[in-house]
Amino acid sequence: MKFGGSSLANAANIRNAAGIVQRFSPENKIVVVASAMNDVTDRLLQIGDLAQRKENARVRKILGITQRLHVKTAKSISSRKTSRELLDRINHLNTDLEKTVEGISHLRELTPRSRDYLLSFGERLSTPILAAAIRNLGLKAQALTGGEAGIVSDDKFGEAKPLAELSYHEIRRRLDPMLAKNQIPVVTGFIAATVDGTITTLGRGGSDYTASLLGAALNADEIWIWTDVDGLMTADPRIVKDAGVLPTVSFGEALELSYFGAKMMHPRAMQPAAQRKIPVRIKNSSRPTQEGTLVSSREEDNAGRVVKAVSIIRSVGIVTVSGTGMIGSPGAAAKIFMTLGSNNVNVMMISQGSSEATISCVVARKDADNAVRALQLALLGQGFVDKVIAEKDACIIAVVGSGMKGTPGVAARIFTAVARKKINVRIVAQGSSEYNVSFVVSEDQGPEAVRAIHDEFQLGNN
Ligand code: ADP
Ligand code: ASP
Ligand code: MG
Repeated sequence: MKFGGSSLANAANIRNAAGIVQRFSPENKIVVVASAMNDVTDRLLQIGDLAQRKENARVRKILGITQRLHVKTAKSISSRKTSRELLDRINHLNTDLEKTVEGISHLRELTPRSRDYLLSFGERLSTPILAAAIRNLGLKAQALTGGEAGIVSDDKFGEAKPLAELSYHEIRRRLDPMLAKNQIPVVTGFIAATVDGTITTLGRGGSDYTASLLGAALNADEIWIWTDVDGLMTADPRIVKDAGVLPTVSFGEALELSYFGAKMMHPRAMQPAAQRKIPVRIKNSSRPTQEGTLVSSREEDNAGRVVKAVSIIRSVGIVTVSGTGMIGSPGAAAKIFMTLGSNNVNVMMISQGSSEATISCVVARKDADNAVRALQLALLGQGFVDKVIAEKDACIIAVVGSGMKGTPGVAARIFTAVARKKINVRIVAQGSSEYNVSFVVSEDQGPEAVRAIHDEFQLGNN
């Protein structure tokens, strides 16, 4: 069971989460995964950036808020049995956090490695509090970091990849004996450790990935993701008011949705579960009796629906390489992607006009300038590229549903609906799985495009 930050926002939420664990224990052996408390990861990121710029007053303010949040929550959770130990641990972590921030500020340097260490405090602080709340209910629970639970990753800080075979082995070795003794491991989501023990993070939203990984390693019957909405929905409920809950989706669909949904779930979260065909349930921690969404390997017949959901990924940029010399010049695309790859820029979408001498790549906005610089350095002056530019006000809209496969006319309906709202489509791509049609529009028109498609396919009427 994984509890998202929204389900751990305060002491009452944490008690509620502990209550959910109790409800399904001891008939079920449960491993718990905890995110950082709501907003804490965002705040730590902010603290890191400010510390690097030596904006000490603002650092102290946000750091103070974060430290007090955990002390206050821990005090409120504390009982006679748990109080001293829990408070000692939180105070200890708070001191360590403070030293880390001082270090960043002193050196004016925030490396990917030190940023991961800084971010790890979110989950390292929330986990002992949740474990204490579970113990208060008479269960045996023990807080562990991802590394202590056996998750070993590479050292690509900020977006580390777990080494699957080694991790699976280590996870079983460390958690199986605890489960056999009816102990509930409460594991930090989001963070792992390299072979030599350095803390890494798995990328934003990574706690979902942690849960899926632990579930797969232990061959769990099911993986449950507790969040603040009733399940995976036909669209982001903050954008579409009548968005509905999807009762079932396939792993393929969930993968497309999470890859493009960005915020709802970590893009790689489904992989380990899908590989071992372990069903994933997404449920609302404030309404635990609701069925939620079941993600499984069953390809549903979709009840006649071709499109199931539409999502938006914001904050992307389009990098366009142009030059008449690229026409008929084999290897131009290869050079572009090699350059981007070796500069750690992830390409989300690609388009090449068949007549025009341009190749456009959609990348995260934060990578756009870096991509342009790298491409200019590598390609200008070689005779085939004249210009490299970035447009940074874009977003991707992804339309997802396995029923789209082999159904003609879906793309026509999508683009007619968008055109009706006078929204200009800049780039189009269809995933090779045919589960997904995605396109790029300007960022301010993104929500309107989502609503247009939601209406066109009447996704709200489940
Ligand atoms: P957690 O803290 O549980 O990890 P997140 O904030 O990461 O929760 O993700 C849940 C949020 O994702 C919801 O509150 C909702 O606003 C947003 N969201 C975006 N797209 C969707 C979607 N298609 N279905 C459900 N929620 C979505
Ligand atoms: N706390 C991390 C984040 O906010 C991981 C997670 O919540 O899944 O990205
Ligand atoms: Mg999340």
